[in-house]
Amino acid sequence: MKALAIDLGGTFTKAAVVDETGRFLSYEKIKTGGERQAPQIVSDIIDLALNVIKKANTRPEEISHIGMASPGMVNEHTGEIVRINNINLSGINFKAGFSKHFSAPFFISNDANCAALGEYFMLKEKPQSMVMVTIGTGIGGGIIHEGKLFLGINGLCGEIGHMGIVKGGKKCTCGRYGCFEQYASTSALIRMVKERMENNPQSPFWQICGDIEKVDGKTVFLGLDKDFPEAKEIFDGWLEYLSYGILNIINIFQPQLILLGGGIMNEKDRILPKVREYIIKNRYCNYPLDLGITQIDVALGNDAGLIGASLLGRKIL
Ligand SMILES: [Zn+2]
Repeated sequence: MKALAIDLGGTFTKAAVVDETGRFLSYEKIKTGGERQAPQIVSDIIDLALNVIKKANTRPEEISHIGMASPGMVNEHTGEIVRINNINLSGINFKAGFSKHFSAPFFISNDANCAALGEYFMLKEKPQSMVMVTIGTGIGGGIIHEGKLFLGINGLCGEIGHMGIVKGGKKCTCGRYGCFEQYASTSALIRMVKERMENNPQSPFWQICGDIEKVDGKTVFLGLDKDFPEAKEIFDGWLEYLSYGILNIINIFQPQLILLGGGIMNEKDRILPKVREYIIKNRYCNYPLDLGITQIDVALGNDAGLIGASLLGRKIL
């Protein structure tokens, strides 16, 4: 198998030729330049694809299939990117674009789904079911059951970040209020620190940052390093929202494994033990633990989206 995998991203687009073991035979990345007109972006991505194929000493006819990971809303059946923020590709059908150069079948899926698939593939022991939760600007998700992505009737499955957790809460990018990602994403944690600084000129966070615009995903952890009670209060509050949402996922799916991904998981030693403790303490009806409880771990992250894209259309066992 030689799959052509493409991972379209807000900043960079990566491509690779990937064999059946997940090994990259070639790899290249370019700036997406998403602010440009669609035909230019598409043409650069096709060129990128042809380049990685050449680099892998392969011909387009030898490519077994093409898999593409895309942010936003995609239609797996037609190959169309239905809606995408920050990249001028809404309404573009890559399946049609690639068919001019390749005869291989084309698959496309949401980037969170692809990341889940890639992570699952890299696990030595495959769980019966797995939910991947990616924490960043928003919260993305991917659900895998018995080796296959769970897509729902329209492919829009796994939008964990838009699970409502606070009725009438903060306005979300999706247009609704009180979504999980407004409380448990990295952006939410940053917002919580900023709000504290705005409301309290004595806040110790001013010592750390000086400027409110410099608050980032690391700020609260710098506060924890210095034992600032305010940092602990914010972090514990955020963590409770995160744990609350994860518990909801568990109550619905009882998956064997939940993987948490995103840059913030560099702080896994501060996050994981508390989430695990919360899950055990608040499990459904205090059920006997020997029935089995969802394991919670950290995603590997490295190019999982690209590996996952190469696996679209396959059942992984
Ligand atoms: Zn939302």
